[in-house]
Amino acid sequence: MKTINDFNFAGKKAIARVDFNVPYDENFTITDDTRIQAVVPTVKKILADGGSVILMSHLGRPKGQVTDKYSLSHIVDHVSKVLGVPVKFASDCVGAPAQEAAAALKPGEVLLLENLRFHPEEEKGDEEFAKELASLADIYVNDAFGTAHRAHASTAIIAKYMGENKCFGLLMAKEVESIKKVLETGEHPVCAILGGSKVSSKLPIIYKMLESVDNLIIGGGMAYTFIKALGGNIGNSLQEPDYMQISLEILEKAKERGVKVYITKDAVTTQEFSDTCPTRVFDADKIEDGWGAMDIAEKTMKYFGDVIKESKTILWNGPMGVFEMDKYAVGTIAMAKAIEEATAAGAFSLVGGGDSVAAVKKFGYEDKVSYVSTGGGAMLESLEGKILPGIAAIGE
Ligand code: AMP
Repeated sequence: MKTINDFNFAGKKAIARVDFNVPYDENFTITDDTRIQAVVPTVKKILADGGSVILMSHLGRPKGQVTDKYSLSHIVDHVSKVLGVPVKFASDCVGAPAQEAAAALKPGEVLLLENLRFHPEEEKGDEEFAKELASLADIYVNDAFGTAHRAHASTAIIAKYMGENKCFGLLMAKEVESIKKVLETGEHPVCAILGGSKVSSKLPIIYKMLESVDNLIIGGGMAYTFIKALGGNIGNSLQEPDYMQISLEILEKAKERGVKVYITKDAVTTQEFSDTCPTRVFDADKIEDGWGAMDIAEKTMKYFGDVIKESKTILWNGPMGVFEMDKYAVGTIAMAKAIEEATAAGAFSLVGGGDSVAAVKKFGYEDKVSYVSTGGGAMLESLEGKILPGIAAIGE
């Protein structure tokens, strides 16, 4: 895997695809600059080598139209503050404004280009547009994992015009490395914890996990389709009748492959989808009619926790319950705690591709796991075993 650490940028111009698609309020004040912070190490390394950086990104969905609301000019000052260096701005990402600003760029300087998506060619993956972007610099750096699953001009096509002068930024390298650890090179036992609402949306990832893990934990709402398929009574819990047969096939396949499957044993249930009504705990296969699961309960927390604590490589995708309501976040937090413990004991843990990322952040476990992915859709597609265009364009 080629990263910026394989290049010396002295006297070179790097064009870096970053993800500055940040949230901001009506006064263009950025409300969360995590994505800007995330590229600081990459920019610093290039500048420290004596190179210069041209940053390119999209912002919002301007649909190929120049729209002030989505102009990156509004974030220049903030980017400058975060990077700790003045940042120049080009009012277009191609054509004369970009070419002139890029040509004038000196070592140690940073230039931000206007929103790539002001041109429909970006999302179409237009070759000529990509070639124009490529002509601005000597080396292409991709540090935008969040868009790596798109074959856009700036995320993939541009790489064709850079010869060997292309590499991953440090953020992207970390994402790619983490995926590799979970799917291929991680120390065993490898454990995947899957939760969330529906089996249907998790099928590709379940199948992929069956190829690589030793232990598969199935919690959250989707566990109940499995439990029902196995003959249990799940009351009003979430279920997908069309996926019962498939659930049984998954369990059969797991058996063939020697993957141990752990499914929810007991549940905190309610009669309404609310956090103000009474709760009852049932065994997950003996839930009375009228009651529906909202979270995993004590026995399951221990059952899952024991597997997690013995793991050397852990992937977590999907919450164990309706964690948006604090009352039903207990099981999800218990998983975070078990992962924290395993990580402290030397395991590698990746949280990625779904609401578990939001949960980990919400409950303050971001720094207690090995890595929290920055790319929702991109991480999910990777974990489903898809080759992402942005990664393929540079090569692993
Ligand atoms: P996903 O996007 O598939 O990862 O699903 C995340 C959603 O699953 C969250 O909004 C949770 O509230 C929901 N969820 C988790 N457990 C349950 C459950 N037992 N019943 C209903 N929804 C659940």
